[in-house]
Formats: sequence, C-alpha cells, structure tokens
Amino acid sequence: MCRGCFNQLFLRDEFYSGGMAGMLGKAAGMPTRRAFMAYSVASASALTGVGASPVFAADQGADLILRGGTIRPLPGAPVVSAIAVKGGKVLAVGDESALSGLKTGETKVVDLDGRTLLPGLIDPHNHTILASLIFELLDDVGYAKFRTRDKLVAHLKQEAADTPKGQWIVGSNFDNLLQGGDFTRAELDLISTEHPIFVWYTNGHDACVNSEALKIAGIPEDVGELPGGGHFGRGADGKLNGIVYEESAMLKFAVHFLGKITPDIAAKTVTDYCRHMGSVGNTLLHEPGTIRSEWIEPFAKLSNTLACRTSASVMFDDMKGLTPWRSLGLGRGAPVDNSLFSLCGVKIVGDGSNQTQTGAQTRPYLNSTSKGSPNFDGARLKGMVAEVKAFGLPVQIHCNGDYTVDVALDAIESAYAGSTDFGVNRIEHSTMARPDQILRMKMLNVQPSFLMNHVRFYGAAYRDQIFGPERAAFMDPAGACVKAGLPFTMHTDAPCSPPGPLALISTAMTRRCIIDNSVVGLDQAVSLDDAIRAVTIDAARQLEQSDRLGSLEKGKEADFTILESDPYKVSPDAIADIKVSETWVAAERKFAA
Ligand SMILES: [Zn+2]
Ligand SMILES: [Zn+2]
Repeated sequence: MCRGCFNQLFLRDEFYSGGMAGMLGKAAGMPTRRAFMAYSVASASALTGVGASPVFAADQGADLILRGGTIRPLPGAPVVSAIAVKGGKVLAVGDESALSGLKTGETKVVDLDGRTLLPGLIDPHNHTILASLIFELLDDVGYAKFRTRDKLVAHLKQEAADTPKGQWIVGSNFDNLLQGGDFTRAELDLISTEHPIFVWYTNGHDACVNSEALKIAGIPEDVGELPGGGHFGRGADGKLNGIVYEESAMLKFAVHFLGKITPDIAAKTVTDYCRHMGSVGNTLLHEPGTIRSEWIEPFAKLSNTLACRTSASVMFDDMKGLTPWRSLGLGRGAPVDNSLFSLCGVKIVGDGSNQTQTGAQTRPYLNSTSKGSPNFDGARLKGMVAEVKAFGLPVQIHCNGDYTVDVALDAIESAYAGSTDFGVNRIEHSTMARPDQILRMKMLNVQPSFLMNHVRFYGAAYRDQIFGPERAAFMDPAGACVKAGLPFTMHTDAPCSPPGPLALISTAMTRRCIIDNSVVGLDQAVSLDDAIRAVTIDAARQLEQSDRLGSLEKGKEADFTILESDPYKVSPDAIADIKVSETWVAAERKFAA
C-alpha cells in the first residue's frame, strides 16, 4: 500500500453499496461527443473575454457591485473600494466613483461594510473526498479539537455515557505526536468495557482499540500477521496492547462500525465538507489523487452544487482511466463539461511521512541510522514520469524527504527537460528540500507546494525529535523560493492537517510552531504578499487555471473570500484567527457567516 499523505481504508469495495467504483453513483457512460460540444461552447464563451464581448459593448451594466470595503485584487496591485461583476465574471475593479457608470436599476449592490475582499483562496492539495468521509462520518478527536490528553479522554468518556451500551465509539484524526503518545488497550478499557472503541490515528495507518473491540472483531490473543501486512501491537507482557497497524488489520474493525456508504451519503458528505471548507475561506480545492477516474463524471455533476470549485489529479495507477477525458482535451485545468470541476495532472506518491520517519532522506533521521525509504527507485520513477509526459500531462510527485526530491527532479528533468509545455510539474510537500534543490527546481521550471502546517504543528518535533535544529530550520523553505524567484504554493493536505488557508499564511510569515510557541527557521519566513500569492494566483497557476482564477482582474471569474479584518492591518500571528465572513464562487454567495 502507498505510504503517503492519505490512507486508503475508505477506498475499499466493502464500504460502498455497489462497490467503490459507484461511490458517487454510476457514470452514465464515457464522455460523449455531445458533451464535448457543450464543453467547447462553454469554454469558447468563457475565453471571449469581457472587452471583446459584444454583450458588454452593448450593455455596460453590472449585475453586481460590491463596495464600501478594502478590496485587494492581487498582492502588489492597488487597493480599491469597489468591484463590478457581470455574467459571473469581473467587469471592473476601481474606486466606487469610477465604477458608478456601471450601475443600472438592475444592479445588485452589496455593502462590504468595511470588510476586506480578497481573490478566492485556494487549497491546492486537499484530499476532498477522503476528508469528507473522515470528517463527516467519524468523530474528529484530533489536536485541533482536543489540545490535551485529559480533554480527549474526558470527551471519549462523555461519548460512552451518551452512547447505548454495545454501540461503537469511533474517533478519527488522533495525533499521537501531539496528544500524549500512543493509546493502549488498557487506557481505552478505562473509558469503557461496555462499548467497542476504535481510535484512528491521523497518519491513517494505525488505530488503537479496546478489549471489547478486539472481542467483536474476533481477534484471538495469538493472532499473527494478516494478509496485506496488517498486524497487531503487543505490550512488554506479550499480550495485545490494542494498537492496530495497517489497512487489512483496521478493516477487521471498520466493517463493524462503518455502514454501507450509498451515493446519497457520499454526495451529502462531500457537500457538507465543501460548505465547511467555504467557512474557512476556500473557494477552490484540489483533490490530489484520492479520486478514482470512475468518479469523475458523477463528481463533475455534483460540483455545481458545492460551496467550492473543485479540481483533481488521479493517481498514476489510474492514469489510463483518464483516456476518454484526455480525448476531449481535458486534464490541463479546463472545467469538465460545463461544471465547476477540473482535472489537472497525475499524482505519484514518492515516499512516506517525516512524522513516521518514512520520508526518504539522504542523511539519517536524528539519533537513528534510518534514512527512510522511497516508494520507487530512480529508474522506476523515471519510467513512470515519462509515461505521464507521454500522456501530455504534468506530474505532481509527493516527496517529503530530500532523497525523494532528488530522484523526482531527475525523473522530471529526464522527461520534460525544463519544458512547461505540459503545465507546471509540482513537488508536493517538498518538506525537506535542500537549498541546491530549490535552485534546481527553478532551473527545471518545477514548483514546490508546501504543507505549511508542518511548521505550525510539528516544527518543534522536527527540531527536537526528528531532524535536529539545523535541518528543521530549512523545513518547508518558502523563503529560499522567494530569494530564488521560484513560485511556490501552500496547502493543508486535509485531513492530514486542519483545513483553512489563513493559518498557512500566518505560519509562512511567523514560522511559529504553536505547540511550544517557538519559531522554527525564521530565515524561511515570507512577506504577507508572498504568502497570499501562494494561496491565490500561484496556486491557480499550478492548477492551470490562472487565466480564470487567482486574482481579481477584468474577465476573470468572480470568486471572492471576504474577511472580517484586513490581514494587512493585524499582526501576522492574528491572521490565523481572522473570521471568514463570506465566500463567493462565480458571483454566487456560497458561504455567509
Ligand atoms: Zn502527500
Ligand atoms: Zn496529500
């Protein structure tokens, strides 16, 4: 199984009525010529542009004007007080008096009342579908909700008190690094012996269960390793200690507490999740690989009702499933069949996670001889990347360790030779990229995307337990990118870290780890302008949508994130706590606080 930034337990046929391929409902069939014609017409009109459109020449009236606040169209561009919208697109930005000629009797006027309007914020790596299932179907017991072990245990006890005896208590997102170390069977037995308990770790690969759960799942005390590598931890006394490792072992429990997920349930979880993503400021999410090609058509249909635009790459293993979509010219950021859903690139998971010391490094982890290990050797990765290039698409390679960055850049150089003709090739996370690798990315026109919440939550652990101070200071090296003139983006990797772009912006500026309030690698801090670019225009460019999204310019889509306070007027630390007031997608209000 892939050791990556996500888990695949949910991608099992067992959990879906009709099997996993039908998770979001059956596709009506492969995309048709008629769908392609509809798509072509839609994109042709989208590309006409405001200035050239005869509609606008004949009728200068705006559908909508937002005024009375601080409007920041793009970092570095002048701040204005009004924005006019027509046909879902930006018609003009400027001062209110300059836009007054666009106002007709039909124009709707929205008063910003002193709030700040930014281009819609983008999370370019958010496992939308898996996060939906995890956040919406399971109880989140993660660090964002329970900062101490005591609070978490009290919550689980309360759940037990509120739950009829015999029913499952299931928590997800438990973070052993931040929430007091591994759970044990004995500790969970103190919470309840009358309810089966399953606590799923945020790394996706482990869980802890109590004695009642072991009984219901029928796990004998002398259980060995299961087919597929699943296994069970043992304490010093040789008895099962409740820790369950890997998918085939976790499945023994999950079949008891997860009911069958129907297409209606799946659609509802994605809908609820996207509304939640709007509430933290997102207007576009990119799903990196945890989508199946069979889901593209039903997902595109669903997308028009979601609170965010969506985009996705498929995994390398599933690339052939993109063939019908490629034949329609898709896969490079254009929307699928007149929807709010786009396809962009192919994902490869190059190594594991630094938190579990499975990211592949050129030097050993701190106080260890282990360097982790990559998922593919250099020759295999070269072959895979060459296949993606032959398919005409850019590649997105998950690389947490610097060794994996080396082999990924070798493979990209060999296939694309610095060309951007196939879009932007991305190194996902690039967590431990070295200074020379940042310069090499610049030379090869490859761009990194940083999981900046690594610094926020794990900065102290990277420094003290995993890498030592010198290497930790260069984790997620956004500052080096700015110095090199290399565009970068930032993502949350939800459900692997809490969603929301404002915390990414704040952390990129302060480099503060909120666990011990220390600053990790201040040299890598960036300005607010640079941080905002990383979740707006530069994120749109990595997703090949910068012609339509990422800034507020005439002819671009009217996607906004409206904040209660101006990030330029509060301290960098306080940016993470700014309240999101509204989000708009294609001139429609999708979230309002
Ligand atoms: Zn990843
Ligand atoms: Zn990921």
